[in-house]
Amino acid sequence: MEKIKMTTPLVEMDGDEMTRILWQMIKEELLLPYIDLKTEYYDLGLEHRNETDDQVTVDSANATLKYGVAVKCATITPNGARMTEYSLKEMWKSPNGTIRAILDGTVFRAPILIKGIVPYVKNWTKPITIARHAYGDVYKNAEIKIPGVGKAELVFTAPDGTQIRELIHNFDGEGIIQGIHNTRKSISSFARACFAYAIDTKQDLWFSTKDTISKKYDHTFKDIFQEIYDAEYKEQFEKLGIEYFYTLIDDAVARVIRSEGGFIWACKNYDGDVMSDMVATAYGDLSMMTSVLVSPTGVYEYEAAHGTVQRHYYKHLKGEETSTNSIATIFAWTGALRKRGELDQIPQLMDFADQLEKACIKTVEDGKMTKSLSLISTCEDPVILNSLDFIKAIRETLDSLLKN
Ligand code: NAP
Ligand code: MG
Repeated sequence: MEKIKMTTPLVEMDGDEMTRILWQMIKEELLLPYIDLKTEYYDLGLEHRNETDDQVTVDSANATLKYGVAVKCATITPNGARMTEYSLKEMWKSPNGTIRAILDGTVFRAPILIKGIVPYVKNWTKPITIARHAYGDVYKNAEIKIPGVGKAELVFTAPDGTQIRELIHNFDGEGIIQGIHNTRKSISSFARACFAYAIDTKQDLWFSTKDTISKKYDHTFKDIFQEIYDAEYKEQFEKLGIEYFYTLIDDAVARVIRSEGGFIWACKNYDGDVMSDMVATAYGDLSMMTSVLVSPTGVYEYEAAHGTVQRHYYKHLKGEETSTNSIATIFAWTGALRKRGELDQIPQLMDFADQLEKACIKTVEDGKMTKSLSLISTCEDPVILNSLDFIKAIRETLDSLLKN
């Protein structure tokens, strides 16, 4: 087979630990033999981030804005222990946070469904994608522990000194208060990213808040979504036969459980944090979740939802065998390749991405899988493979699919 040619490079963001090892295996076994792979390579491994004072992360995000599509390996977010382990000059910020801020993006997470790994909710036959607003609310709050009697107020002061005041509570004893905020700009970007992604993936979009109780705060989210939908996206939605609808979060939760899946659920920051853990767990396993960061202007960065699988990496370093699931990382590559193919009109690249995803699913459905998958699969006699052999098994399946 002649290798598939690419015209525009993908922005390739390499990462850390076990996922960095998988990254190399995936390229060697599943990509380079089939594709004349064109990437602009950025090494986001912690050592290189430290050497470049984290400039490499910023550069990779800017390259993503330039080319439009990136694929990212999981990376370490440094903490105290990592400072010592890697002799860091500084406790560098989370790369995902840095990239998200530059791309002004929203993260969409969806599970990969496989026969034999049955969701806890039996009617969920299609993936539910969660879109979490990643700015503000309780994550950027101000809190006070009220010591005793007194009046708490919300005060806004304009540059000219005029004020808006609102009584929070007249305390007659100890208590607590918190102030949270969001901005029209951030909510609008979130809305646009959601509408754009719904159109891109041809799925319905649900949005839910608690607007009946929060008549100004949550209601503003609802209003901004509706205004932007009516002005910019309604026509395209109708043309594609997909739907946008807003509903109270209580109603959304009930409907989600009764649904068959196959839609995007846009959530405010806290709701998305909590609901994505619930949805991921109900579908089976973190190692089967994909994640894509979408900017309001339609720039895409694909990755796996899991981290660098540190525990497996230490085993690997000791020369012990690992059985780490590479599927979500492979799907990050296929997502990026398919998008690149779509933008550059290379149908062979899109088709290859489809076939490689099929090969991953078929390999597991045929009973060949990693340790963690075998623990949740209903397959009777699973063959448990190590990290490399699993990738090689996927390659065998891929070759047989490509022959047909
Ligand atoms: P993790 O890497 O997601 O791993 C947590 C545990 O989940 C693993 O120990 C493993 O369980 C299981 N697991 C996750 N992915 C798996 C896979 N592909 N195959 C098999 N098992 C898998 O999370 P963490 O250990 O909390 O974090 C490690 C590092 O990743 C941290 O430095 C963190 O900053 C970083 N992180 C990065 C990202 C990102 O770049 N997007 C996201 C999250 C975390 P067992 O050990 O029981 O087998
Ligand atoms: Mg959470």
